[in-house]
Amino acid sequence: MVLDIGEIISLLLLVILSSISHKLKMTTLSGTLSGIVLGLVIILFGSWKWFIVFILFFLIGSAATKFRLSEKITKGVIEEKRGARNWKNAVSNALPAAIAALLFHTHPQVSIFFSSSISSALADTLATEIGVLSRREPRLILDLRKKVDVGYSGGVTLEGYIAAFAGSIIISSSSSILGISNAGYKGFLAITVAGLLGCTIDSLVGATLQAKYKCSVCGKVTESPSHCGERATLIGGFKWLGNHATNLIANLIAGALGLSIFYGI
Ligand SMILES: [Zn+2]
Repeated sequence: MVLDIGEIISLLLLVILSSISHKLKMTTLSGTLSGIVLGLVIILFGSWKWFIVFILFFLIGSAATKFRLSEKITKGVIEEKRGARNWKNAVSNALPAAIAALLFHTHPQVSIFFSSSISSALADTLATEIGVLSRREPRLILDLRKKVDVGYSGGVTLEGYIAAFAGSIIISSSSSILGISNAGYKGFLAITVAGLLGCTIDSLVGATLQAKYKCSVCGKVTESPSHCGERATLIGGFKWLGNHATNLIANLIAGALGLSIFYGI
């Protein structure tokens, strides 16, 4: 196997960024290792251009997580170790992209699937990380007249949606500039819309099928099986369908939607 210069630089970037993100505690050990495996698949089976888009997602997503982090911890909306990403984060956000990379050689059309799934992953990450900082209470996606607690699965805010829109635009425009969606405005449009739809599907699944727990200490309804240091009680949804599984499903559907929008228009 002969590597071209783009692939060699991408592999170096992968090593450097993984070490930095681990050192800065942006990722846990499992998150770092699974990020390396998924990054390798994207570089070697997709292309170095795909990897640039993947890096954009990772850097902007991580920055959004660290943005006003202490405020998020005080609000009780960050359940994992100070926002450090673990293997579940890596898999739910990047597995669809890695699957597209594995199919790329025989089915080059999957580049739209790739960008659409990353568009959805960034849109949802930004919607969550920026939305929880909103001064207004989130509204339930199934009934916008109903107010819900911050961090409630299926709760949406205007700020969150604006951030989601910005996230999908970042991925669709970088994909267009790099020539990944080599069909100009059609690719741009498909990837932007797929990202926003993916983020909306995430909220819909979050509001309906995703596991919901009630904290026995503070009484808050949460997507996390533990809260305030205690185990919380399951009050709705499927126990096996947590936040990460919901993300994975939404990103897979977004990839498929991107493909059908692109080839449908
Ligand atoms: Zn609690």
